[in-house]
Amino acid sequence: MAKNPKAAKNRRPTTRRPRAVAATVTASASADIEDLASPSRCRAVVGPTTAAAEVRAELLRWYDANRRDLPWRRAAEPAGSGSGRGEEQRAYAVWVSEVMLQQTRVPVVVDYYSRWMARWPTVDSLAAATQEEVNEMWAGLGYYRRARFLLEGAKQIVEKGEFPRTASTLREVRGIGDYTAGAIASIAFNEVVPVVDGNVVRVISRFYAIPDNPKESSTVKRFWQLTGELVDPSRPGDFNQAMMELGATLCSKTKPGCSQCPVSSHCQALALSSQNASVKVTDFPRVVPKAKPRSDFAAVCVVQISQGFGEGIAEAEGKDNLFLLIKRPEEGLLAGLWEFPSVLVNEGKTDTLNRRKEMDKYLKQLLSIDVTRRSSVILREDVGQYVHIFSHIRLTMFVELMILNLKDDGEELCKEGPDSTKLRLINENAVQSMGLTSGIRKVYNMVKVFKEKRLKEQSQVPTRKRSRRLK
Ligand code: SF4
Repeated sequence: MAKNPKAAKNRRPTTRRPRAVAATVTASASADIEDLASPSRCRAVVGPTTAAAEVRAELLRWYDANRRDLPWRRAAEPAGSGSGRGEEQRAYAVWVSEVMLQQTRVPVVVDYYSRWMARWPTVDSLAAATQEEVNEMWAGLGYYRRARFLLEGAKQIVEKGEFPRTASTLREVRGIGDYTAGAIASIAFNEVVPVVDGNVVRVISRFYAIPDNPKESSTVKRFWQLTGELVDPSRPGDFNQAMMELGATLCSKTKPGCSQCPVSSHCQALALSSQNASVKVTDFPRVVPKAKPRSDFAAVCVVQISQGFGEGIAEAEGKDNLFLLIKRPEEGLLAGLWEFPSVLVNEGKTDTLNRRKEMDKYLKQLLSIDVTRRSSVILREDVGQYVHIFSHIRLTMFVELMILNLKDDGEELCKEGPDSTKLRLINENAVQSMGLTSGIRKVYNMVKVFKEKRLKEQSQVPTRKRSRRLK
C-alpha cells in the first residue's frame, strides 16, 4: 500500500472520467465534489472484502506502531496482557475517558482522568459519590451534564449488578449514546460495532469522498454504516481507536499528513485532489456554517456579607467575609451547579438602573429579605462585563459587587427561598476550592481584581474623603 501522494497519482484510474471532473470543479467546488463522489462509487473503491481487509491490516499496523500512550489505553489493555484488570474495569476506564474526551482536548483530559480514577477507581466507588463531589472534580471541564450522567449511569449500573456488555444494552444506561456505547462495547468487550466521532467522520468522508452535509441524519447514518462495514472483526476495539487516532493525528482538519497515511492508496479525496488541483482533501467533510448562538444578557451580583464591621471596603476586607451562592435548577443549562445570584435581562435593558432593579427584585424574592431594609450597603458598584460562550448561547454577564453589612443574623439568608432554590453562604477559601464553573471563577476573579484596585485607590485618599466616596 502506497504511503506517498505520488503513488496516488500513479494509481489505476477510477471509473470516473477526468474531463468531467475538471469541468465540474471549475464551476463550483462544492457542486463538483457532489457530482464526483456518489455513494455507489465510494463503495466500489474499497471493494467488498479484499480491499477492506487491506485497509484494516494497514490501519492496525500503523496504530500498533504509532498510537499515543494514554492512561486510559493502559487501563484498557486486553485481559491477559499483564494489567490484571477485568473487562468491567476496562469498560469503566473507557467510559470515563470517552465521556471526558467529548468536547475536550486530550492533554486537558489526561490530568482530569488521572485524578478521577485515583478518587473513584471503580464504578462502585463512583456510584457512592455525591453530585457535589463529582461537580467539584469536573470543575473546569465544561459541559457539566456529562459529569451528572456519569454519576447517574454508575448508580444505574451498580443497582443492576453488572456492567452491560453490548452496545445495545449500554445504550440503556443514562447518558450513554451510540458513540460511547460503541466505544465501550468494542474496546472492553470486543463486540464488532463501529464508533463514529468527529475524527472518524473526517476520515470516512475523505476516504470515501463523501460530499454530503455531515450533520444531516441520513449522512450520519451512512457514516455509521460505512464504518461498520470496515470494522475489523478480530480487533474491533483497536480498529475503532485506530480510526479515531488517524483522525486526531494524521488526518487533521487543515493539514492532513497524507504522505504518511496508512490508507492513502484507498483514499478517494486524495485521488480526486491528485486528478484536479482545485479539489483539496480538506474540502471533505463539507463545512457547514454553525448556527449563530443566541445572545443572552445577565445581571450577576457578587453579594459579599460583612457582619458587624465598619462601613468601608478596607474594613470589610481581611475579615471572614461570606459570599452568597445559589444552586441552579436541576434541569437546563448548568443544572444543579452553584453560581452568584444571576438574573436574565432583556437586551435593551442592560443599563445599571434596570439591572439593579431586576437584581433587587430577585434577591428580595429569593432571600425573603429586603436588602436595603435589613442591611446597609457598604458598596455597590459595577465591576465589568464578561462574555461566556456556551455551545448555543453567547451570554454577556454584567457583573456587580455588593458588600452588605447585615443588621441581624446572616444565617437567615440560608433559608430556602420560595422557589426551593438552595442557598449557601461560603467563605473565600471555599470559593477557591469548591467546584465552580470556569465562568463563575472568572466572575469571582474579576471581583477580586476590582477590590484590590479599589483598596489601592482608597489607601491613597485621605480618610474623611474616603468614607464620603464609599457611601
Ligand atoms: S485525507 Fe486523510 S485518510 Fe485520506 S490520505 Fe490524507 S490523511 Fe489519509
